Amino acid sequence: MQERLLPIPGNPPSLINVPSGCAFHPRCTFAELTGGRSSGEVPELTATERNHVVRCHLRPDQRRRLFAEQIAPHL
Ligand code: SF4
Repeated sequence: MQERLLPIPGNPPSLINVPSGCAFHPRCTFAELTGGRSSGEVPELTATERNHVVRCHLRPDQRRRLFAEQIAPHL
């Protein structure tokens, strides 16, 4: 079964002028939680416990909590 995605607001960035750091930071609701890292540092690609990979500066416990509290209720 395919899970629904919750789109983030705004438009995708220009591919010839990709934002610094995490390319999503201008539109990401959670970028401010990373203490400025999102705008200046590209996140490492990291394996997760669910056999997925993620590229985000948020800690796994932050991502789990934000998903449960702010994303899952809207899916
Ligand atoms: S690193 Fe994570 S929190 Fe920061 S802008 Fe990218 S997706 Fe959002």
